[in-house]
Amino acid sequence: MDRDTDSGIIDICNSLKKDGLTLEGMTVLITGGAGFIGSWTCETLLNLGARVICLDNFASGLKDNISHLESDEDFTFIKHDISKPIRIDKKLDIVMHMASRASPFEFDKFPIQILKANTLGIWVALGIAKKHGAKFLYTSTSEVYGDPDQRFVPTPETYNGNVNPVGPRSCYDEAKRAGEAFVMAYRSQHGMDTRMVRIFNTYGPKMRADDIYGRVVPRFIEQALNNDPITVFGDGTQTRSFTYITDQVEGILRLASTDKASGEVVNIGNDKERTILDLALMVKELTGSSSDITFHPLPVDDPKRRCPDISKAKRLLKWQPKVGLKEGLLKTINAFKTGGM
Ligand code: UDP
Repeated sequence: MDRDTDSGIIDICNSLKKDGLTLEGMTVLITGGAGFIGSWTCETLLNLGARVICLDNFASGLKDNISHLESDEDFTFIKHDISKPIRIDKKLDIVMHMASRASPFEFDKFPIQILKANTLGIWVALGIAKKHGAKFLYTSTSEVYGDPDQRFVPTPETYNGNVNPVGPRSCYDEAKRAGEAFVMAYRSQHGMDTRMVRIFNTYGPKMRADDIYGRVVPRFIEQALNNDPITVFGDGTQTRSFTYITDQVEGILRLASTDKASGEVVNIGNDKERTILDLALMVKELTGSSSDITFHPLPVDDPKRRCPDISKAKRLLKWQPKVGLKEGLLKTINAFKTGGM
C-alpha cells in the first residue's frame, strides 16, 4: 500500500532500507493494532511489504485508525481481547504486543483491564509467538522507571526504577514491569528471540484528545484550538521528553529488524527535556490561540522529570529522533484542524 509522503511513513521505509533492514514478506501480528502507535506501525509495515494481522478489542483503540487499511489484501483485522486465548493459523514471523490502555486518566477507571493486558495478555501473545517460532517485541514504557531519582535523569536502561506499587499509577507501571518479566522468562525458559522497547511520551496525528484518553499534547492542542483554558497540572515545572510518532515507529521497527538487538531492552524517546509549562506556551503560540493558561492540582505520583538516555538506541539501532518538537507539534496541530487524523 502507498501513502502520501507527507505522513513521514515513506521516510521511515527509506531509512530502514538504506541500512539494509527489511521486514518485507514477513507476517506480523500486532496486538493493540488499532491504537495510536499500533495503527501507525501497521501502516508502516504494510508500506514495507509485510503482511499484518491486527488484533484489537477497541478498548482504547479506534476503528477509524485502521479503516483505511482494510482494503489492503495484506491487512487482516481480528476483533479480540488479547487477555483471552486465541489461535492464529497463519504462520507468523513476528508478534508485537502493544495492547494496553496508556492514559493516566484510564488508570483510575480501568486498572484491572490494564493489568490484564500486560500480564494475561502478554502471556497469550508470548504463547502464540512460541508456537510459531516467531520473534517477540514488547512495547514497554518509560513508566517502568516510575519517578526516577534525579541522579538518573536522563535515564539509562540500567536504572531499575522508583515505582510506588500501591499508588494510582501502579496498575500501569507494575503491569509493564510484570510484562517485562514475562518476556525475560519466556526468553530464558524457551530460548525465544525477544526485544523490548521502553517508549517515552509519544505524540502525533491520530492520538486521542477526548475524555479519559487524552494525553497532554492532544489535550493542550484541542484546548488551544477551541480557545478554552490550557490546563497545566501542578506548577508546570515537571518535565517530559516528547517524541514524534514517526520517530517512535522507526525506532520500534529498527529494534524488530536489527539482528543484534535480540534480547535487548531499548529506550526510544526524544532526549530534549521540556517543562509542561513550556509545552503549554508553545502550543498556545503555534495555534495562535487566545486561551488562558490555568493551573490545577498535580496528580498523585506524577513523575517530576522524564528524559531518556538514548545512547543505546543510537549505538545498537543507529536510531535517533529526527523531528523537533515545533515541527511535530505543527504537523499534529494541522492534523487536528482537519479532523484529528
Ligand atoms: N498534564 C497537564 N495537563 C493536562 C494533562 C496532563 O499538565 O491536561 C501533565 C501531567 O500531569 C504530566 C504531563 O502533563 O505531568 C504528561 O501527562 P500525560 O497524561 O501525557 O502522560 P504521562 O507522561 O504523565 O504518563
